[in-house]
Amino acid sequence: MGLSLERIRGGWRNVPENLKTKTMLSQLGLKPGNEAVAEVWAGKQWCKLYDVSDAVEKRKLTDKQKTAASESLEKARAKLVDDRTCSHCLNERTKKEIRQQADGKKICTYCIEYLHEEEVREQRIRRGLSAFRRRFETDFVILDTESTDLDGEIVEIGVIDRFGKTLLHSLVKPVMPVPDDSPATLIHGIRNSDLENAPTWAELREEVLRILQGKLVLAFNAEFDGKMVSNSCRRNKVPLISGLEWDCVMEAYRLRCGSDRWISLANASGRHTSHRAVDDCVSTLHVIKEQWVEMGLADIALQSS
Ligand SMILES: [Zn+2]
Repeated sequence: MGLSLERIRGGWRNVPENLKTKTMLSQLGLKPGNEAVAEVWAGKQWCKLYDVSDAVEKRKLTDKQKTAASESLEKARAKLVDDRTCSHCLNERTKKEIRQQADGKKICTYCIEYLHEEEVREQRIRRGLSAFRRRFETDFVILDTESTDLDGEIVEIGVIDRFGKTLLHSLVKPVMPVPDDSPATLIHGIRNSDLENAPTWAELREEVLRILQGKLVLAFNAEFDGKMVSNSCRRNKVPLISGLEWDCVMEAYRLRCGSDRWISLANASGRHTSHRAVDDCVSTLHVIKEQWVEMGLADIALQSS
């Protein structure tokens, strides 16, 4: 066959416009439709030439090729999606929202924030648990007071030990009584007529001091009870009770819940709270014991009750 080919001498400039090589046809999206009609010397070898008027369009891709092509496209796309997919929430994010971590994982900014909050929460819980654990090893008493108002003075005080034994319970005659329909009175229900014969704080102070001294004083919302003790000392013009170590069970409890919100004694203890001093002490002890049970200190905790 080759022998019948016309050999064009003198190089490319002598090749007519209608004759093309395979490569040239391919660049036009064509392929030879017939045998080569001529060849030209291309420096190293004879190069076959085809008539462009016989050429046909390059064949369409086969199904297999189409699949392969789309698969490789898919892969490229998947890689892009993968680079923007958070390994924590599996959401596809924008490039800006994705941070590569030291371990190579890609995590979105939302999850980073969430994980940070979770970490803070877990730290709180650990702190709360360790507070309850410390209580277990400490000689503590639980104190609760009822008062004339939120910034008032004590009308009832209760102190119990870790076994729930009442160490002190007394109504307290206030220096500045409030009306029987005042908000605090409506909560605890201790009326002025109940307080007429009660000792004053000045009379009780020594006994309170004796019971609390050297003990860790726990209270649910210790800040409040501490303030009431100080207020009562001031109004009665007796020395403040200083040097006591107070600790707040509400604070420990809300840490343990991973929360920093105010929690009522009723919610924390799961008990109906009467808002009477000794009963609220018992509820507070209940909160502590429940944590002991959860921490596996149950046997010892329950022995003592
Ligand atoms: Zn995420």
